[in-house]
Amino acid sequence: MESNRYAINWRTIIQNIDIIKAKEINLYPKKWRKNLKKVLLVFPNRYYIGMSNLGFHTIFKKINEIDDVICERGFYPYPVSFETKTPFNEFELIIFSISFEIDFLNVIDMLIKSGIELFKKKRKKPFLTAGGIAITLNPFILKEIFDVQLIGEGEELIIEFVKNFFTDKEKIYSIEGVFSENKEIKRRIYTGNYIAHSTILTENTEFSNYFLIEISRGCPYSCYFCAGSHNYRPYREKDYNEILKLFENFNGKIKKVGLIGSSVLSHKKFFDICNYLIEKNIDFSVSSLRLDKINDEVLRLLKLGKNSSFTVAIEAGSERLRKLINKKLSDEKIFYAIDLFIKHKILNLKFYFMIGLPGEKWDDVEKIVEIIEKIKKEYLKNKKYLKHLGAFTISVNPFIPKRNTPFFKYPIDKFDILTTKISFLKKRLKKIPNVKVQVEDITKSYIQCLLSKDDGKFLPFLIEKVKKRISDKKFVFSFIDKIEKM
Ligand code: SF4
Repeated sequence: MESNRYAINWRTIIQNIDIIKAKEINLYPKKWRKNLKKVLLVFPNRYYIGMSNLGFHTIFKKINEIDDVICERGFYPYPVSFETKTPFNEFELIIFSISFEIDFLNVIDMLIKSGIELFKKKRKKPFLTAGGIAITLNPFILKEIFDVQLIGEGEELIIEFVKNFFTDKEKIYSIEGVFSENKEIKRRIYTGNYIAHSTILTENTEFSNYFLIEISRGCPYSCYFCAGSHNYRPYREKDYNEILKLFENFNGKIKKVGLIGSSVLSHKKFFDICNYLIEKNIDFSVSSLRLDKINDEVLRLLKLGKNSSFTVAIEAGSERLRKLINKKLSDEKIFYAIDLFIKHKILNLKFYFMIGLPGEKWDDVEKIVEIIEKIKKEYLKNKKYLKHLGAFTISVNPFIPKRNTPFFKYPIDKFDILTTKISFLKKRLKKIPNVKVQVEDITKSYIQCLLSKDDGKFLPFLIEKVKKRISDKKFVFSFIDKIEKM
């Protein structure tokens, strides 16, 4: 049965890959030639998600920069390469780029589908490795599967690793950032000038046909729950002239730009970058905005860049809790920014909040509703001036403790309590006109928590979950007490 089902999917896979590939613009095409050593780079999630990921683009480009090596891509759920449809098990070296802990399960699934032995001790080939923020955060879960893991930033690390793999394999174990058994974990930090950017343009991504460019790495702030801030230290801004050079290199090919960074408004040359793009008539957008960095000039430029909606992370409803989590954002600053949004007629806003944060009280949950009600009131007061009423999206996510952050020691909130908080928020927020609520599935958050906290003991159960297709709900409920105590 299983193989029949797979055989039917196979034809669709080939067609899908060809359709998607035909629409790609590769900014760095590598010429195929005989005797190139092949490496497979896998993003264990859909093409749409993988190709939205700058880390994946960067590693793909960096491997292809090695003269005698060619890199192919792989995406979930297909156990064949995207470029030549070569089955995974025919590669000598497979590198997984993993951004989300939840994708650990997809790694297991893809290896099983490919007929590759899961456990490194029993496997002869291929050599399996992985990198990406999820691996940096937790290299323990899949340590029995991956031969080695790459910890930290990959720009140089990947080149050293691949080169040595094909020339002097023993040397890979001594490279800084390569983690194997009984070795101390050392996070590799990249200090060079390379700027991560889209290397293949495609419409099949979250940021369809956008040229994404990372203008800064790390964050100058230090919210206690934030994996991004604590795992990409120190905060670094990319050189302004190098950024412009990249835009100029692809002059004519770039239609829209996405400026990426944890705090893009902190970049000292942010205004200059925007002015350059406006002058060149290139639309641009930014990842989420820090409300306390917003001013008239920021909004004027972003509007000229044709931004019509913005994402802002308030995280906690009350100022008290924001202080506790080290999110330095006062109510006063929030409402000052809201006034500016109204003045500039920015109607569509997405707000991020977390629930279940350490130190949270019921009052803090109620304050999420209150703050949105107050913001809405400000918009309603200015209805005539605004002419239209925009839409608010409220995204609510449970707090999940992340390794290497000050909040890693805390547990996830109890399942029942999270359920109560979420139904309260949904009920109350939905009463506010033009407000949409997006809530993360609590069972998914629980799995994420397990994958974030576990040190490898759960691997047999994760494999069983994948093999027997055990539902998330059933899986979480069999371990709920353990996860709540992690
Ligand atoms: S949550 Fe945002 S502002 Fe806070 S440390 Fe992380 S990236 Fe920086």
